[in-house]
Amino acid sequence: MSGLTTTLETPTGGKYEQPTGLFINNEWVKGVDGKEFEVYNPANESVTCKVSEATEKDVDIAVAAARKAFEGPWRKETPENRGKLLVKLSELFEKNLDLLASVEALDNGKAYNMAKVDISMCAGTLRYYGGWADKIEGRVTDTTPDTFNYIKKEPVGVCAQIIPWNFPLLMFAWKIAPAIACGCTVVIKTAEQTPLGGLVAANLIKEAGFPPGVINVISGFGKTAGAALASHMDVDKVAFTGSTVTGRSILKAAAGSNLKKVTLELGGKSPNIVFADADIDNAISWVNFGIFFNHGQCCCAGSRIYVQDTIYDKFVEKFKERAQKNVVGDPFAKDTFQGPQVSQLQFDRIMNYIKAGKEAGAKVEIGGNRKGDKGYFIEPTIFSNVTEDMKIMQEEIFGPVCAISKFSTQEEAIRVGNATTYGLAAAVHTKNLNTAIEVSNALKAGTVWVNTYNTLHHQMPFGGYKESGIGRELGEDALSNYLQTKTVSIRLGDALFG
Ligand code: ADP
Repeated sequence: MSGLTTTLETPTGGKYEQPTGLFINNEWVKGVDGKEFEVYNPANESVTCKVSEATEKDVDIAVAAARKAFEGPWRKETPENRGKLLVKLSELFEKNLDLLASVEALDNGKAYNMAKVDISMCAGTLRYYGGWADKIEGRVTDTTPDTFNYIKKEPVGVCAQIIPWNFPLLMFAWKIAPAIACGCTVVIKTAEQTPLGGLVAANLIKEAGFPPGVINVISGFGKTAGAALASHMDVDKVAFTGSTVTGRSILKAAAGSNLKKVTLELGGKSPNIVFADADIDNAISWVNFGIFFNHGQCCCAGSRIYVQDTIYDKFVEKFKERAQKNVVGDPFAKDTFQGPQVSQLQFDRIMNYIKAGKEAGAKVEIGGNRKGDKGYFIEPTIFSNVTEDMKIMQEEIFGPVCAISKFSTQEEAIRVGNATTYGLAAAVHTKNLNTAIEVSNALKAGTVWVNTYNTLHHQMPFGGYKESGIGRELGEDALSNYLQTKTVSIRLGDALFG
């Protein structure tokens, strides 16, 4: 397991060569200090392999590579070619879908079948922004007759992108695609829990034909490599997805260094509101998917479920039945819906929340325990008898744990729906159009789903109100994260000034 590649095997991907180095300037290199760290398989707690660890010195080298590419060949690249490269990368993701999904399942523990959907969404995102690359336009604005003014959009420059472990490759695609479309260069740091997919993707980046230094992929820890990127004096922008606590420290690092531009996609505690007139079976399916999809490790997870009092008892019974049918187990087994949590640390955090819920007097309707004795599996857990001030109602658990509560009026649903510091997502289940629109308008959330949940799409902006973030990813909106506006004003004629 030494050197810059190691042979790994997955039940669905067979044997493959896993890169383990740092991808800088289109080359595989070791970290300057030669450090490595272990990557764990969350399904059985064994060490999968070791990968090179980027330190501050490696961050400097990667940023210098990105700067050189930005000021040099990439600046001169045509928008059309930037688009073609993204489309080519999208095709390579599709071509390697089984392998990439296998690596994600191995590294993160997510169900292989779900990981395949992630990779399709990566391909969709890359292709979508490939289409945008040659459609970024400025405008001409008349002010006075003797002036010609144009306003153009320019790439913001060298971008640091720091991503989490819950959707390792999807977050990778969400980050690099708009940055590249806009003409930026990138140093992307994957999460220390899940570096493998990004390293496999780096080989595809090279194969697609991206020039050296345009996309650099490093593995490393938040407090060292991540912090070095956030406070780097030659990074023009940092884009981050992760916890609100870390988001704050990134904002502070930007403020304390070169005031680099910052976008943050942070945590959530999203309400999933079910009115009595909803189609109950559909609502239950979406509520179940809303919280238990990806093992509850979604920033937009519908973790607070509010059900109108007249159907509450029936809903709880049916929801329990539904959740107990979720197959929890080996990520590579055909029917698995829920695999292990990503790490020991996350497992412990979630079990502590479950303990806190029990101690606060909430009732465990189902679950509440570890599943099995190997791997970080947790039973789907539903709490009832909860109050708004309980920790399990206010804090993001990031696991297969939800709290269910009742409301009686629309006003009350809106009030409790908005009663957290977060504002990432929300959902309303109802057949009444007025209720759907009135409640959607009143909820303080960046995304509101009606009679559905977690149905993200690369054409639709995604991001947070309140403490759930700054800026939007996806859709046309994400382009503005990677562009800056230049005003050029030209005085016409040859009359002397003054
Ligand atoms: P978690 O606690 O679930 O690991 P984080 O928000 O801390 O979530 O991590 C998300 C990403 O942020 C990871 O890539 C991690 O390495 C990085 N990170 C963590 N702490 C910092 C930090 N202080 N500065 C920059 N990046 C960080």
